[in-house]
Amino acid sequence: MDYISTRGGAPTLDFAGVTLAGLARDGGLYLPASWPRFSTAEIAAMRGLPYAQLAARVMQPFVGDSLTPERLHELCEQAYGRFAHAAVAPLAQLDQRHWLLELFHGPTLAFKDVALQLLGLLFEEFLAREQGTLTIVGATSGDTGSAAIDAVAGRDKVEIFMLHPKGRVSDVQRRQMTTVRAPNVHNIAIEGSFDDAQAMVKRLFADEAMTAKHRLGAVNSINWARLMAQVVYYFAAALQLGGPEREVAFSVPTGNFGDVFAGHVAARMGLPIARLAVATNVNDILHRALTSGDYSAGEVTATAAPSMDIQVSSNFERLLFDIGGRDGVALAEQMHGFEGTRAMQLTNAQREGAAALFTSARADQSDMARAMRWAWDAAGQVVDPHTAIGLHAARALELPGDVPVVTLATAHPAKFRDAVERVIGQRPSLPLRVGDLFAREERFSELPGEYEAVRDFIFAHATPRG
Ligand SMILES: *Cc1c(COP(=O)(O)O)cnc(C)c1O
Repeated sequence: MDYISTRGGAPTLDFAGVTLAGLARDGGLYLPASWPRFSTAEIAAMRGLPYAQLAARVMQPFVGDSLTPERLHELCEQAYGRFAHAAVAPLAQLDQRHWLLELFHGPTLAFKDVALQLLGLLFEEFLAREQGTLTIVGATSGDTGSAAIDAVAGRDKVEIFMLHPKGRVSDVQRRQMTTVRAPNVHNIAIEGSFDDAQAMVKRLFADEAMTAKHRLGAVNSINWARLMAQVVYYFAAALQLGGPEREVAFSVPTGNFGDVFAGHVAARMGLPIARLAVATNVNDILHRALTSGDYSAGEVTATAAPSMDIQVSSNFERLLFDIGGRDGVALAEQMHGFEGTRAMQLTNAQREGAAALFTSARADQSDMARAMRWAWDAAGQVVDPHTAIGLHAARALELPGDVPVVTLATAHPAKFRDAVERVIGQRPSLPLRVGDLFAREERFSELPGEYEAVRDFIFAHATPRG
């Protein structure tokens, strides 16, 4: 499988190349040159497969010659063997119509583990074939950082520099990052928001002095391999609810548009999806873009769902490319305009293309709290604030009448237990697998919100390329 950039000006890469590359050299994001498609019979034949086997089956067309099918299956067994639930991503029923897809049974309690446990293994696999060290730079609103650090701590030939916005991640999230003691892990708390941190990471990838000296890799959802691994659970859920003979709708708590873009990919591959609901909190740029075509970034407001406190959603560029005729030159121009003014208007083709599959809803604090209370009162389910926002959208939107609606449960409620306790008066306890998180010593560096400070820190601490 060949991978191309959304901005049309970067070299084509194979799967191994795209996994190690992160952001494309022209500032774009990599996507497969074409979508592999399964027939209805091929999808039906996946029913009942254990998760790791299903994962290997769904991902093989994207991996191409970079791994044999046997090796891909072994890596999936290894990645998903670390999950605390044998089904990896089980469904829980809320009522006649609504379901939760529990994606939080991995080591760090959020859905990010589903992709990052595999990505850590893919890095090691592909780096073993090459010289030198991969320097991962990432920005996190909390969950990517903990999942990525867990996935690469102590691994060969990889080191990680993870930026989080100081004071804006939960204590559980922060401790999951800062108590990991491995020489290849560097945590940096920066002044500013997640968007500021993400902008610095993008700038590092475009900094020639940096890339000449260090081989940079990405664990944010700009990395294609992450989205690929997330496609699998859309198949898993739909197959359990009657797919491919019956359509299913999904509601997805959305920040960087990675998780819901994976749903779009599943649909492109032939999975019958009725609708994809993009659920946002008050940081609602995506909701505004999808309802009125206005993609303009405001100030970030801190909420009880910090992993969605994002105004500039990187992966939205992938959607615009895919539904807008895959014209890299035109998209590069549009994105450069956006980068200059932090605002753009979607074209009619982009709006119509998005409307074919996507719908959206925005939840403020009281919408979120109402949905959380409903899950608790109606079904005895404790859900985290991100999941509650997804559930709000699932219930508020007019989705086709006869399809099951699956809300992606993106985090374990204990990861945001203060916020949960404030709403339903129950304090979810941390699962035993996180260990003595609050007894361990934290270690991180603090830097001002200035690009040069971050760049110099990395120059001072990272291993040069081999
Ligand atoms: C990362 C995250 C999201 C947002 O996912 P995107 O892929 O960035 O849209 C939602 N909920 C939780 C708990 C997360 O960690």
